[in-house]
Amino acid sequence: MAKQVRTRFAPSPTGSLHLGGVRTAFFNWLYARQNGGVFVLRIEDTDAERSTEESSKGIIESMKWLGLDWDEGPFYQSQRLDIYFEHLKKLADKGAIYPAFDTPEELEAMREEARRAKKNPIYDRRALRLSKDEVQHRIDSGEEFVWRFKVPDEGYTEIPELLMGTQDEHKILNSTIGDFIITRPGTKDKPGMPLYNFACVVDDALMKITHVFRGMEHLPNTPKQVLMYNAFGYEVPQFIHMPIIMKNNKKMSKRDPDYDPRFPVSILERRDLGYLPEATLNFLALLGWSHPESQELLTTEEILKTFSVDRLNKANPNFDEDKYMHTNAWHLKNKSDAELVALTKPFMEKAGLDLSMYDEKNLERMMAMEKERCHTLAQFPEALSYFFVAPSTYEEKGVEKSFKNENADKILESAASMILGLADSDMVKETIDAKLAAFVEASGIKYGIVGPILRLALTGRTRSPGLHEVIEVLGKTETAARLQSARKFIGSLA
Ligand code: GLU
Repeated sequence: MAKQVRTRFAPSPTGSLHLGGVRTAFFNWLYARQNGGVFVLRIEDTDAERSTEESSKGIIESMKWLGLDWDEGPFYQSQRLDIYFEHLKKLADKGAIYPAFDTPEELEAMREEARRAKKNPIYDRRALRLSKDEVQHRIDSGEEFVWRFKVPDEGYTEIPELLMGTQDEHKILNSTIGDFIITRPGTKDKPGMPLYNFACVVDDALMKITHVFRGMEHLPNTPKQVLMYNAFGYEVPQFIHMPIIMKNNKKMSKRDPDYDPRFPVSILERRDLGYLPEATLNFLALLGWSHPESQELLTTEEILKTFSVDRLNKANPNFDEDKYMHTNAWHLKNKSDAELVALTKPFMEKAGLDLSMYDEKNLERMMAMEKERCHTLAQFPEALSYFFVAPSTYEEKGVEKSFKNENADKILESAASMILGLADSDMVKETIDAKLAAFVEASGIKYGIVGPILRLALTGRTRSPGLHEVIEVLGKTETAARLQSARKFIGSLA
């Protein structure tokens, strides 16, 4: 029987979850789901200075919002320290690691010397040359030290990488790696915290991770990790490093001096701007993968069906905001009106619009009117605000063109009485449309003149959905009241 696929997402909670991280999470999730595997969430929070609980919470909130559900975890590395120390002891007992007491100044001087001699500035193993007694003495006297991993002098380390780099680049000469540090400085009584490369290997091994999708920036860590797997005698997972997401020809980053806060990298900030989770996943999937028929607008279901590792791309993808927005608009349009009522609710409320003014059916009608035009959820409140707040001012160019028409007052007056005269059963958009047509016909004035006058009176705007739709939702009384208010306004112009 084939081994069960197990993937993981292992973010460090040192800030908000970014779009690049979401892509990593999504590919791991996809691969697990597609293969009937297990997806693990692990929070890598051993860096006590930079990790925050707020950030962990934000990551979990983001994952839930995205619908990237996990089967195991969240595991917190900070709660697994005993496990790492046990493993540290295993490596020490095997002689695979050694304590090193060098100060940062000593290390810098050593590197400087190597650079001057035009040699690779790797650790010169001075700590390894100390006598056993001296090492013991320095540890016992409470001196601070780190643990270094002893890299074999000979041979090379091979990394099982599926995507990035050439075959040659997957074979790293051990003599170039250098004995790397696997814990922070600590003492006999207060051991140093495990560092990423070490804790990550212990966890990936114990959690039986089979495939690791992660960002390209971790490729240089991989030979070190493989060396540790080998030292423990653990099986090495398959690695799939993903290309760097570029924006404006630079690595996309919040630290980019040209970073534009209107286009945040934080996933929760995108949520608050009205982007949809499924649109975000669709857009991010295409930053590193392509659909077999080059389709670009895809549901998560469709991505799940067609995703495959052999369609991953090596080239650094370009983050195109217009495409993200376009993808969002498409997913938005695919929502039912009822779904949109629910999805836009927090945005409408935040804008101060009182949703209780309308019943569900009318709220759905509003969504239907705007879902072709709005590209994000956050655009709905502005598009629909006139339903909730009667216009108190009118668009200037409409006033000039429509309200200053000599027939405006008369048209508004007779339209108001026409509407008030309608039976309740006539207040459906098809009938309203017919009644409006008859009204225009009877007035002897062109629709091109009457329509804009009514529109401006009802919405305050020169553009809106069809009048019959607007009137259906506003209802008789409100429609008539708005037409009368506009008459007053016109009166005040004189
Ligand atoms: N905590 C690491 C990070 O956030 C995980 C890297 C990995 O996937 O191994 O970059």
